[in-house]
Amino acid sequence: MNFVDTHCHLYLEGFQDDLEDVLGRAAAAHVRDIFLPAIDWPSLQQMDALMRVASQLYVGSQRDVNSHAHVESEVDPESEAHDESQPYTESQAQSPIRFWKMAGVHPCDITGRREGLRDTLLAYGAMDDIVGIGETGLDYYWSKDHVSAQKESLAIHLEVAKEVGKPVVLHNRDSTEDLLAIVRGHQDGRLTGVWHCFNGTVEQGREAIELGLHLGIGGVVTFKNGGVAEVVEQLPLEHMILETDAPYLTPTPHRGTRNEPSYIPLIAQKLADVMRVGLDEIASVTTHNAYALFGIDERVSG
Ligand SMILES: [Zn+2]
Repeated sequence: MNFVDTHCHLYLEGFQDDLEDVLGRAAAAHVRDIFLPAIDWPSLQQMDALMRVASQLYVGSQRDVNSHAHVESEVDPESEAHDESQPYTESQAQSPIRFWKMAGVHPCDITGRREGLRDTLLAYGAMDDIVGIGETGLDYYWSKDHVSAQKESLAIHLEVAKEVGKPVVLHNRDSTEDLLAIVRGHQDGRLTGVWHCFNGTVEQGREAIELGLHLGIGGVVTFKNGGVAEVVEQLPLEHMILETDAPYLTPTPHRGTRNEPSYIPLIAQKLADVMRVGLDEIASVTTHNAYALFGIDERVSG
């Protein structure tokens, strides 16, 4: 049984001090893949740093159990020669957890700085090791001052996602109607993506699915009185993927503390209860959905 955390900001500062423990717990919780949505451009460098550290941690842990000669061969530059079909495997070949990067600018970070957004996003988005565009979207909760800037940025992200043929990751807070209307306006059959941290009504969930979106199910589904579980219950599992949004939106019973990928099974178990299916079915269906959405099977098999 494997899980995928499709939305995790593990590259942020709050994980630097105990990354080894966090990754160890994630691996023990059968989290096989972690997807890293960007907040801004520096996120990309932070992701690379995270992946370097993670791969070193793993090499370090292997050194304890393997012969010195074997470790030598593992770090031999020859064995790390770049295979064009799998350009991001440096850490993935060594780490039990695979990381997948995305590029985008969060709607709360978009304030006024949109010159060059399209060109920069297109350059990053076209790269082989970028599997998705985001996170983008709308957030009317934190700021209504930049609504037009957010909409403009969202439109650019949607167009770039179609151009590079990769899914878009959508953030939504108090902005559902506008978000769905804009997605509808850009959907020409090429757009795929996920409504991350799904928090809509049954109607809106159906509309999103009909628009080609998946629903990202996170810690909010475990909240009592959150209302999300009652909505999710009426929507098809075939369009759902799991996410933590760590370090945010920590599931019950850890609310009030930092969220982390090892809490994915808590979210999965709640979804299993809500859908009245087994945990293993939740794991296999949501993993399959995530791989299909982000094209992971084709990437891994080359
Ligand atoms: Zn996020």
